[in-house]
Amino acid sequence: MNDIKETVKAILTDYLKHNELRKTPERFAILEAIYDTDVHFDVDWLYNEMKRKKFTLSRATIYNSIEHLLACGLITKHQFGKSQAMYEKSYAYKQHDHLICNDCKAVLEFCDPRIYQIQSMMGQLLQFEITHHNLNFFGRCNTLTQTGACPRMNNKNIPLTAK
Ligand SMILES: [Zn+2]
Ligand SMILES: [Zn+2]
Repeated sequence: MNDIKETVKAILTDYLKHNELRKTPERFAILEAIYDTDVHFDVDWLYNEMKRKKFTLSRATIYNSIEHLLACGLITKHQFGKSQAMYEKSYAYKQHDHLICNDCKAVLEFCDPRIYQIQSMMGQLLQFEITHHNLNFFGRCNTLTQTGACPRMNNKNIPLTAK
């Protein structure tokens, strides 16, 4: 994990230098917070997480850093339904797809090689060079099915990633 952190910091350093952007401690603190967690997060989560770590940053700064981290490929952006955009770390993190609870927006991940078989088969069949895919399943999380209510509905501090 520490190796990964060093590598992602180096990638960000290179990117900032290349684009003549300042190497602010905030940008590196945000990167660190993202690589310290396994959750899929939104801007509000990141804002609160940075506040918890005693960094008082504006939402504009958070948005700005997210744009740069997206540009250098250190995070990926997801649009799960109509809710606000979600992000997750992406360096050295296995490819996967998602299941999202309709109510509490909890996110589960799965990885199935058959998805790739379909992707390459369709690419060949339709002579289409596929660069990436986006596959989300929506439904009811286990707690919702069993108890009729999601734990996150009344407590937004419960992480968005259900484990
Ligand atoms: Zn749920
Ligand atoms: Zn994910």
